[in-house]
Amino acid sequence: MNVNADEESKAFVKSFDFLPWPLDEEALFTIKFGRLSPTLLDVSHTLNAMAEERRQITHYDPKEDISLEQYAEFALVHWDKDDPLKDMLLASFGAYPDPNEIHRDYEGFIRANLLPFCYTARKDQPILASLLSKETPSSLTDQNLTWDRVPGGATIGFYVGSAQNFDDLVNFWNLRASGVNVIFLDPDHADRLALLRDNFTEHIAQVQSRVRETDRTIAVWSQSQDATMRLKFAHDLVPYFNQVEGLNILSDNRLPPLHYIAERRLLGVLSEHFGKPTIAFQLPEKPFPIEDPLDLNDQHFVVSISRITTMSDDPHTFWTPFLPEMNRWIGRQLRMDSKEVRAELDGFGIICPITEEHLHIYSIQKLELTKRLFEIAGISAQSSHPGRIATRLISQLGGLQGCRVLKLAGVRRLIKEHGALQEFGWAKAIGTIASGTEEVPQPNFSEYEDLYIETRSMTSKLTPVDVFHYLLSKGVFRPGLTLKCPMCELAFWVQLDDVSTQAECAYCGNRFNCTRQLGKDPWQYRKSGLFGLDNNQEGSVPVALTLQQLDTHLHRSSSNLLITNLKLAKGPKSPECETDLFVAVQEHDRVSIAVGECKDAKGEITAEDVRNMMAVADAFPRDHFDSFVIFAKTGAFTQAEVDRCKQTQLASGRSRVIMLSDRELEPYFFYERAGKEFEMDTTVISLDNLAHSTSQLYFYPKPKMPAHG
Ligand SMILES: [Zn+2]
Repeated sequence: MNVNADEESKAFVKSFDFLPWPLDEEALFTIKFGRLSPTLLDVSHTLNAMAEERRQITHYDPKEDISLEQYAEFALVHWDKDDPLKDMLLASFGAYPDPNEIHRDYEGFIRANLLPFCYTARKDQPILASLLSKETPSSLTDQNLTWDRVPGGATIGFYVGSAQNFDDLVNFWNLRASGVNVIFLDPDHADRLALLRDNFTEHIAQVQSRVRETDRTIAVWSQSQDATMRLKFAHDLVPYFNQVEGLNILSDNRLPPLHYIAERRLLGVLSEHFGKPTIAFQLPEKPFPIEDPLDLNDQHFVVSISRITTMSDDPHTFWTPFLPEMNRWIGRQLRMDSKEVRAELDGFGIICPITEEHLHIYSIQKLELTKRLFEIAGISAQSSHPGRIATRLISQLGGLQGCRVLKLAGVRRLIKEHGALQEFGWAKAIGTIASGTEEVPQPNFSEYEDLYIETRSMTSKLTPVDVFHYLLSKGVFRPGLTLKCPMCELAFWVQLDDVSTQAECAYCGNRFNCTRQLGKDPWQYRKSGLFGLDNNQEGSVPVALTLQQLDTHLHRSSSNLLITNLKLAKGPKSPECETDLFVAVQEHDRVSIAVGECKDAKGEITAEDVRNMMAVADAFPRDHFDSFVIFAKTGAFTQAEVDRCKQTQLASGRSRVIMLSDRELEPYFFYERAGKEFEMDTTVISLDNLAHSTSQLYFYPKPKMPAHG
């Protein structure tokens, strides 16, 4: 039967539309110069390398006192057509299709070059245990491959099932494909499998004696308790078995490792194409020989790319969340091709010809990626005016980490307190930075002395003058003079760049020598640029500060997304609203996202804010996303705000509300100050940590007992 034509298999393939066949021709073998050639990298290179190695060692002499069964490194296993174990043998040892069918004689090559032990299983004899120590067509497929991670749980054991049961064979196959070394046992054929079982049990004991002292039990997977019982495992070796429901062999949080040939670090060249930053790099020498490029140039393999680092405030990124459903979209963005890219846990893979010498990858606009993620939640997101202002403000301060200066309450005060046309003197600036104002005193400046807002000597402390100089250098404030025209007697502002001895009155045009008006410290300061707008920068300061703190502490900052204010249209489950920030971070195989509200010290997190943000967070489907809500404020929360957030958390039943006040945003570490007063976990590398600590600090606070003495 041709499975391609079968309606059921067509529907099955269609349900995985995000895994399109990557090549133009839908075939595993294509005709090349009159013969069939594989379209994906096959085992030829491994076989060639093994044959080459064999040619260099001494030849086997059949007259010597050693049998081929003992001597051979390779085994070819055959069986009768009516052998009840044939499918299990095929799944265990592998075999090649008839050369007449694929026009490639892998088995012939092995016979001619590798001196294999050829073994035919007999229906009335046990399978030989020596096969377990030899290379076979099956073991060849992961020869010299490395895991990108150790799969969770046991990596060696038995699968118990019926060799006649298709689900059991599939489970066995998938377990092995996940990197688990298992042998198939069927109680109906216990005698024929006895040698394999005994030999493998011994092998497991040897492996375990090397790696661990305790817990020397054997992992057994099965759909059937009865079948497992019939095999009479010793209770101390197999105290329990892993019950498999149907085909759910991977249900115990097992993440199959990605197998790869080799890993290299490469230097990429960044340039711009079609207005997008684009990275190009030369592929290193292939870890397998390409002797006949003409023959092999139809073969494809996967180049996996991970950890391309960009600055966190760059509007472009090379990060792709692990959401395979987005494969086609990611492919169009990165490669302008919707078929050849696959999302991976730690980056993405590109399916390309093995003869490819170099690759180029287009970056993705963070805003476009964000919109796409919101689409999954059924929400249309747009950049907003406050979002653009916040982005611009962050950029004026030299990026998110340049926003560290906003940790100082005195700085926030200085920015907030003065209108654009309102100048102030040096003493006022330094005084405000050092100690806030009488009305809103800030923590003692010594709290900030160890903060680095830019490079300085490791031994020196931060001073208010350093801080003000930093703000001047970033153009947050500009120096100038207030002069008074002797003719019309009106005062006017001249900024530093325009100052000259002969001043010209801004009102009447009168020119006069201004030096007589200069006192001991004539310089005054005014807000400028974006900070000069009399709109409180649309609340950008708390947003920038919150994003800065998240950027510092969320691990692997190359795989995340931090975005300012977005306008969100009404979705099926969420109201029309705005979010002040959007965060997405890859956490193992899941994506954590956060939306939130950021207020300044006098702002309030309202009941509506809480409702809206929770509804948006809830709209992200739980099969891929862990969603969080952030409420940040550059002052302390009121009890009403805390109660609101706590009620929401309780109603939602999961720990997902994150509250950040000035106490958490100002120090370098989130809980540097709070951890001194309360019993709580202070380590933060994920949004989940923040939600957990929020609950400890705000919802169930336990003040530390004062020390005696
Ligand atoms: Zn004048």
